[in-house]
Amino acid sequence: MAIPFIDLKAQFAQIEASVRARMDAVLAHGRYIMGPEVGELEKTLAEYVGAKHAISCSSGTDALLLALMARGIGPGDAVFTTPYTFVATAEVISLTGATPVFVDIDPKTFNIDAALLEKALVAFEKGDPSIHPLPANHDELKARAIIAVDMFGLPADYARITEIADARNLFLIQDSAQSFGSETGGKRAGSFGDASATSFFPAKPLGCYGDGGMVFTDDDELAQAMVSVRVHGKGVDKYDNIRVGLNARLDTLQAAILLAKFERFPSEVQSRQKVAEAYASGLAGLVEAPAVPAGSLSAWAQYTVRLGEHASRRDEIQELLKAKGVPTAVYYGKPLHIQGAYSGLGYAAADFPHSMQASAEVLSLPFSPDLDAASIQTVVSELARALDAVPTTAG
Ligand SMILES: *Cc1c(COP(=O)(O)O)cnc(C)c1O
Repeated sequence: MAIPFIDLKAQFAQIEASVRARMDAVLAHGRYIMGPEVGELEKTLAEYVGAKHAISCSSGTDALLLALMARGIGPGDAVFTTPYTFVATAEVISLTGATPVFVDIDPKTFNIDAALLEKALVAFEKGDPSIHPLPANHDELKARAIIAVDMFGLPADYARITEIADARNLFLIQDSAQSFGSETGGKRAGSFGDASATSFFPAKPLGCYGDGGMVFTDDDELAQAMVSVRVHGKGVDKYDNIRVGLNARLDTLQAAILLAKFERFPSEVQSRQKVAEAYASGLAGLVEAPAVPAGSLSAWAQYTVRLGEHASRRDEIQELLKAKGVPTAVYYGKPLHIQGAYSGLGYAAADFPHSMQASAEVLSLPFSPDLDAASIQTVVSELARALDAVPTTAG
């Protein structure tokens, strides 16, 4: 029997009664838009992450967009982020009219390299792409913001990134779409930066049964602006429009589902650590398992290994595993600086070598908080067998 890549069915079996009861309550009161569950969820999750305000919304993408729009980021602004992320991180920058400025990742964490971020800012200030690669239109831009992504569930290096942002008065957004439930330096994801944007896409650590997202902030003014942007730039109501906004609310039904799923979430975060530990010990000596820096706890949105010397056989390894009922995925096979959508920035493939290498080497394995020891053993032994298989020379 195939092992599910992410086992939402096993999870549902644990929480079914609670999900159904929560959904029934919404069907009974009928307040499908901004019903009472929305506010209850915002309050519950703000408390959990340790943020003053939580603004729920329609997706992780819109969560990022709400923060950028509320801060007034737009044409002529430069926003620094990595090319090794889901496209949404850069897409929202472009949607506001601003320009993404890419900075390579730290190969150990897959997160933005703080030293390179500093270097990119210096290159940008001096207008000198020989110091660090810059987008073609860099001399028309003003540095305004940083979006740090917590790749695969591991928080970025906020101690250093916050210092860099503060020194230059840059707006810092934590893209916590993959890291809800994670921690670093004794604080939870959701509490870093001027705003933190997360996603409730079903496959994320805390997922709903559709699209959803949330932005956290301690800033009263920013929170108020995000609440306005979320509903058509509303002033006193949605027929009083004080800015250009969006329709980006979270459905009441999704909030209800999230409230039911959150009951089990803290214990799932603990179970995820156990699954990751079992993988790490099983995979020792086989492939490079993901590293978690001291003082950090990953939410393990994905369990992603590097194939190293076996990387050129990745397609074949995936096929061999699939034939044995072990699904795998590649996040992300093509960094953003070489995507067609970003060809206008004028970057060369070699500008971000760590992102390129990660894209060529990574393989994500099945991962769920409910993954049992036998399944973990199957994944490990089938991976070992696939790595040992004689490389196909036909071609
Ligand atoms: C999933 C994801 C998003 C977007 O979230 P959606 O809810 O799918 O819109 C943004 N950034 C990263 C890093 C993600 O993984």
